[in-house]
Amino acid sequence: MIHFVGAGPGAPDLITVRGQNLLGEADVIIYAGSLVNPQLLSLAKPGCEIHNSAEMTLEEVLQVMCRAEEAGRTTVRLHTGDPCLYGAIREQMDALDARGIPYDDCPGVSSFCGAASALNLEYTLPDVSQSVIITRMAGRTPVPEKEEIASLAAHQATMVVFLSTGMLEKLTERLLLGGYRADTPAAIVYKATWEDEKTFVCTVGTLAETAKKNGITKTALMIIGDVVSHSHYRRSELYNPRFTTGYREAKP
Ligand code: SAH
Repeated sequence: MIHFVGAGPGAPDLITVRGQNLLGEADVIIYAGSLVNPQLLSLAKPGCEIHNSAEMTLEEVLQVMCRAEEAGRTTVRLHTGDPCLYGAIREQMDALDARGIPYDDCPGVSSFCGAASALNLEYTLPDVSQSVIITRMAGRTPVPEKEEIASLAAHQATMVVFLSTGMLEKLTERLLLGGYRADTPAAIVYKATWEDEKTFVCTVGTLAETAKKNGITKTALMIIGDVVSHSHYRRSELYNPRFTTGYREAKP
C-alpha cells in the first residue's frame, strides 16, 4: 500500500494526526526534500528506509514504490502542503493503477492556508471577495492560455500565486493588464509557518521591489487583493443577530 501524505506547509506540528500516524507506521518514506521539513522524518520508525525525491526522477520513485510493494511493505509518499496542489501526484497514481498497486491520499495543510495564517488573513471577506484564485506564472510547466494571469485578474478576486517568486515584474505587468490598480494591496509570504517565516505587505506595483530588497527568491506565495488590507468589508450575515439560522433564532 502506498499512502500519499500532505506534510503541511512547514511547521512539523502542522501535519495531520492521520499523516503523523502513517509516517510512524511506514516501512519506506519518499519525501519531497526541497520543501518538506526534515524534522518530520524523526517520526519514522527505526529501520525505515528513507528517500529524498528531490534527487530522484518519477521512474526512480516508482521503482522504490514497486520494490516496497513486492516485499509487502508500506510506503508513505510525503508531499509538501497538500498533495493536490502542484504535487505531481496524478502521474504517480496513474503508474500505480497500471501496475495494480493500491494507494490512498491523506490531505495536508496547504501553504496558501499557512500564508493566510501568517498574516491573520481571511481570503473571503463579504463585499470584497468571495473567491480565491490559486494559480501560477508559466515556468517550465506551461499554464493553459485561457488561464493567463491577466484574464484571471479581471475577476478581481483574491489571488494566491504559487511558484512565481522569480517572475514578479512579469506578474505585476500581467496583474495590471488584467485591471488591478498598482496600489492594490498585495503580500509576499516567505516560508509560511517555518521558523524563518517572513511576511511583507506591499502593493501590486511593488511586488518585485519588495522581494528584491528582502532577498526573497523562492519558497514564497504572493497574495493579491483588497483582503490583504481589509480596510473595508461587510460583517457576516451568519453571526448577524437579525437573521435566523438553522441553529439560532433572530433576536429582535
Ligand atoms: N502542494 C504544495 C505546493 C507545492 S508547489 C502546497 O499545497 O502548498 C511549491 C510552491 O509552493 C513553492 O514554490 C511556493 O510558491 C509554495 N510554497 C510551499 N511551501 C510554502 C511555504 N511554507 N511558504 C510559502 N510558499 C510555499
